[in-house]
Amino acid sequence: MQGKIIKGIGGFYYVHVGESAVYECKAKGIFRKEKIKPLVGDNVEIEVLDEKDMEGSITKILPRKNELVRPLVANVDQALVVFAIKSPVPHLNLLDRFLVMMEYLEVPVILCFNKEDIAGEEEITELGNIYKNVGYPVIFTSAESGYHVEELRQLLQGKTTVIAGPSGVGKSSLLNRLYPEAQMETGAISRKIERGKHTTRHSELFRIAQDTYICDTPGFSSLYVLATEKEELKFYFPEFAPYEGQCRFQTCDHIHEPACAVREALDKGQISKSRYDSYVNMYNEQKDKKRY
Ligand code: GDP
Ligand code: ZN
Repeated sequence: MQGKIIKGIGGFYYVHVGESAVYECKAKGIFRKEKIKPLVGDNVEIEVLDEKDMEGSITKILPRKNELVRPLVANVDQALVVFAIKSPVPHLNLLDRFLVMMEYLEVPVILCFNKEDIAGEEEITELGNIYKNVGYPVIFTSAESGYHVEELRQLLQGKTTVIAGPSGVGKSSLLNRLYPEAQMETGAISRKIERGKHTTRHSELFRIAQDTYICDTPGFSSLYVLATEKEELKFYFPEFAPYEGQCRFQTCDHIHEPACAVREALDKGQISKSRYDSYVNMYNEQKDKKRY
């Protein structure tokens, strides 16, 4: 029987099978045979040991497409990054850091700016211009009025999506709007599975529709450590790509070098100032790190 691990805690893995069955499984044989640790998000084969008590054993981990470290989840299709258009005003440097991380991990991003109902036309246009220009899919929503919630549902359908964003932007409100029934199911699963006694946060997947899972990460982490050299950072800003190779110096980092095509594009407004500022900020940070 095939299923998907939606939670792992205390040596047990909770494997979702079919419409709504969840089996509590051990994975002893896997450690011995394959020497890999099952992850939340893994597609697995299980052997049912006790049908009545819904207990089983994981016999095989199917090949992984990818794995994220924070949250620790396998087979992620995309990240939904949620910020509010206002209240709170988006911290664009934080947002750009997250986008760089996802570029680095090669996880496609959907950008969702919520609280459309209280936002002005100007704020929406400005955010839209910055991020559509980079090439990200951008959606403006309101959990309050339901604006574009259907469109958002379409974007999540059939995928495993990691949801991220600072607190207070409306992530829970959006999820409640999107999947009122799933929220109840979530409660039921949480009751069945004992919460960890320590402070470690375990990642968990929620099945919200057929083949559709979300991982609601606790809080937005800017603590991601980018394992890349400062000279490589520029490759994670997709809007710089058309200008690569057009600067005077082959090795141009687009910081202070003369005849830099990226900074010329910045001056012409083809690259947005806030994105470029985030780049310089991250570049300097990576540079400082090298002193240690
Ligand atoms: P989370 O911390 O990201 O999960 O945010 P919540 O869903 O808890 O929402 C934070 C606050 O913003 C709550 O007071 C919500 O009622 C409010 N809120 C959420 N979505 C919207 C929205 O679309 N419009 C407005 N005006 N308020 C919203
Ligand atoms: Zn340059």
